Amino acid sequence: MIKIERLVVGWSQTNCYLISNGRSGILIDPGDEPEFILSTIQNQNLDIRFIVNTHGHIDHIGANDEIAKSTNARVLIHPDDAKFLTDPDLNLSKPFFGEGRVFKEPDGFLKEDEVVEVGSIKLKVLSTPGHTPGSVSLILEDKIFCGDTVFSSGVGRTDLPGGDSKRLMYSVKKLCRFSDDTILYPGHNCQTTIEKARWFIS
Ligand SMILES: [Zn+2]
Repeated sequence: MIKIERLVVGWSQTNCYLISNGRSGILIDPGDEPEFILSTIQNQNLDIRFIVNTHGHIDHIGANDEIAKSTNARVLIHPDDAKFLTDPDLNLSKPFFGEGRVFKEPDGFLKEDEVVEVGSIKLKVLSTPGHTPGSVSLILEDKIFCGDTVFSSGVGRTDLPGGDSKRLMYSVKKLCRFSDDTILYPGHNCQTTIEKARWFIS
């Protein structure tokens, strides 16, 4: 059975999702608190194959390198957000880390309709730009991990570098093609549904 754990990490209370089945797993958005994330992984003796970033902001990528180093997981991000990993002005790490933080380059890319697969876990990539140019959502059966595209309380910010409100609204509409009872797992706060996300379409 596929298990989903929500680990809330860091100052911005980012949802890092640990998806596992048996001993294999995928980690979405390890934004901070690498020791906490690693101890959760190690306590279950999990083999994490991929670190998937929904987008390249510091609160979603902050623990990428520590976890990749300890687990040998491959870091995946959309090509349009890849430069965020190495550019502190784009990943917004400067206010928190002085000179900012530069992360290692990705090991692979997330592209529309591609599937990140580990055993029976199949995450299908849906490109949902707007919050950042390379924001993605990941579809797992009747659930969608939607990053900072839409939340239980509204849509994501578009006032940060590369943000685009028209593209964001198009992406929210794209998500709303899924059925009402599809569960959305956002990058912050509690889960919601497509039915509720429809409220935010303008
Ligand atoms: Zn963000």
